[in-house]
Amino acid sequence: MKPTLRTGLVFLAILLFLSSCGSFPKKRTATVFAMNTVMDLTVYGNADALTAVESRIRELERLFSVTDENSELFAVNRDGGGEVSGETAALISASLALCGRTDGALDITVYPVVRAWGFTTDAFRVPSEEEIAELLGVVDYRRVALDENRVALPSGGALDLGSVAKGYTADCLTALLREAGVESALLNLGGNVQAIGTKPNGEGWRVAIRDPKGEGYVGVLTVSDRAVVTSGGYERYFERNGETYHHIIDPATGHPAKSGLSSVTVVASQGLLADALSTALSVMGLDRATEHWKQYRDFEAVFVAENGDLYLTEGLETVFSAQSPEAKVTVIRP
Ligand code: ADP
Ligand code: MG
Repeated sequence: MKPTLRTGLVFLAILLFLSSCGSFPKKRTATVFAMNTVMDLTVYGNADALTAVESRIRELERLFSVTDENSELFAVNRDGGGEVSGETAALISASLALCGRTDGALDITVYPVVRAWGFTTDAFRVPSEEEIAELLGVVDYRRVALDENRVALPSGGALDLGSVAKGYTADCLTALLREAGVESALLNLGGNVQAIGTKPNGEGWRVAIRDPKGEGYVGVLTVSDRAVVTSGGYERYFERNGETYHHIIDPATGHPAKSGLSSVTVVASQGLLADALSTALSVMGLDRATEHWKQYRDFEAVFVAENGDLYLTEGLETVFSAQSPEAKVTVIRP
């Protein structure tokens, strides 16, 4: 066959395609159990990058774990304060600011109440109203004093970074991978998803949002360079006498939040913000959460109401696709 311009061009296109495939960095995956959850890590890059991610997770876990007797946070809670590393101080400081921003819907001093319900130890129980009222006396993020690396808690007070630690960790890992030259990764830290760059082929990462009431998904978000963090009572709960009690506590009542929402997914460029807000908006409920979005506009969200209806903020309209064609989806606009 005589080579024509056309066959030549086709040949060239195939060559270019093959060489571009070959230049994708290698896909590497790992599963890590840390921070009380299963973490699935996918990194396109060299093996060292993935190893560095794993050891960084362990390092941060050792600082922030509320149950590990050797953690910095454990010492602070045991001693009512003390000197902490710059890293722990930075997270406490940023978290306190977010408690203020959410007007206490997020409150990292809620730990005595969380502990009384048994959520940290799995020794679940329903505390009496008197006990809750007494514990609420020390729940107030405004009473945490942070002076550079010195923390002081009110007597009987304790900190819980469970609502923010994975988001902060995701931000640290993103910075680490970027520095290592990684341009494409998907880190799923147990419901805290961090999409770094795009997929190697340039498409956005597809992140599914679990159906809080079933096995499947309510929909899929296609994102790049974003944190996608979901909070919901369905993740951790127990049942007593026909009642379900879940782990997201309304600091105003000391009881599991009854906000009418089954789950809240927050999409933001920063993991810490997304993690803090997914918890806080779950406490606030749809109306307050909508107001918060209108006020700040530095995040987007998907709300799954208890009746299954979906609400999304405007910025997600083109990147969210509902699983079921029958789903009732309302777009929230400014
Ligand atoms: P998960 O850790 O399951 O992803 P969240 O990010 O929503 O979920 O954090 C929930 C955890 O945060 C709870 O297990 C509890 O330790 C703590 N917590 C519960 N309610 C609050 C609250 N209103 N403010 C701050 N922390 C909370
Ligand atoms: Mg959270």
